[in-house]
Amino acid sequence: MILPGSTIGIFGSGQLGRMFAIEARKMGYRVHTFSPDTDTPTGQVADIETTADYNDLDEVRKFVQKVDVVTFEFENVPAETIRVAEEFVEVHPKGDVLHTTQNRLREKNFLKKHGFPHARFRHIQTLEDLNQAVEELGLPCVLKTAGFGYDGKGQTKITSPEQTKQAYTNLAGQEGILEAFVDFAKEVSVVCARNKKGEFVHYGVIENSHHNHILDISFAPAKVSDKVRREAIEITHQIADVFGYVGTLCVEFFLTKKDELLVNEIAPRPHNSGHLTFDACITSQFEQQLRAVCDLPLGSTEFYKPAAMANLLGDIWQFGEPSWSKALETPNVKLHIYGKSEARRGRKMGHITALADSTEEAVELVTTARRKLTENASAILVR
Ligand code: AMP
Repeated sequence: MILPGSTIGIFGSGQLGRMFAIEARKMGYRVHTFSPDTDTPTGQVADIETTADYNDLDEVRKFVQKVDVVTFEFENVPAETIRVAEEFVEVHPKGDVLHTTQNRLREKNFLKKHGFPHARFRHIQTLEDLNQAVEELGLPCVLKTAGFGYDGKGQTKITSPEQTKQAYTNLAGQEGILEAFVDFAKEVSVVCARNKKGEFVHYGVIENSHHNHILDISFAPAKVSDKVRREAIEITHQIADVFGYVGTLCVEFFLTKKDELLVNEIAPRPHNSGHLTFDACITSQFEQQLRAVCDLPLGSTEFYKPAAMANLLGDIWQFGEPSWSKALETPNVKLHIYGKSEARRGRKMGHITALADSTEEAVELVTTARRKLTENASAILVR
């Protein structure tokens, strides 16, 4: 058991690490972050920030000797880095879980092997593979790079046979995966936590909407049937058990128009759709990660009220500083800003959460607050 006063090492330094570090510090732990960047969202609230390449194994060795346990907020850490870390200290989740989930092809093969529902897919190495796969899966379909991809990066939707060549070129020599396009009714996720004893907790089903492939709004509880709710939680529980998972995990699903669930992705860490748990639940997804990796009992996932979250992307800075005070005029809106210095388009800069008596009301509150952030700028444009 790793007790308060100990030091948690975390690979990655973004907003997920920041919120993890805030929770860890609340409980009296020290936090040491490792990433190639400086003055990062996590580094700003951690006790120590190491800036080094993930492949710099000497730095990795120094880092892991100063911490009591290692976890991640970013899964694309090289396998060798994790192997070296594991020589010195416990690492959660395990290297093989990261190996599976950091590559879409390995992840889909894992789902297939264990009988978890997923969209049909094919492995793509050559243009011939792609042409054949397009014939087999039919149009439309989505070509994705197998490795390192998130928020729709490295994805091309193919709607006509003429587009295959360009889509293949977009892979730029990387290994690919072609997926049948899922004409889903909605997207949902289940965020859960599991500890070494196999205790499992979850936050029910969260409903998500995306804009330009990036998560835009999440709310909980999702508007799904009891059957879908039970199945989504059961699949998530089984995935966590098969991995022997320790930490917070998120399973993202497509819900088809026939009310069938298909697993889209597994995130071996706290997830953007679970950010609302920070304000809306007795124990946030970040605190669960801490409790799980420290081998402590997991906390209650009870929601105080229905909740919604709206992401704030760099786009809202394009006409100047957003009107924070206007957005905060609604008293039960909570603002989270990640401390990133540069507001690039599409970059996640923060989020807004609201609790209300219904999910509709919570969604209305977060979208209204977000709109108010740029209302002055829009007024200038209209004039
Ligand atoms: P991903 O990075 O794979 O999670 O994709 C980001 C978003 O793109 C998803 O949340 C969906 O909105 C959309 N998307 C990805 N794959 C598919 C698919 N096979 N069919 C339909 N939409 C997809």
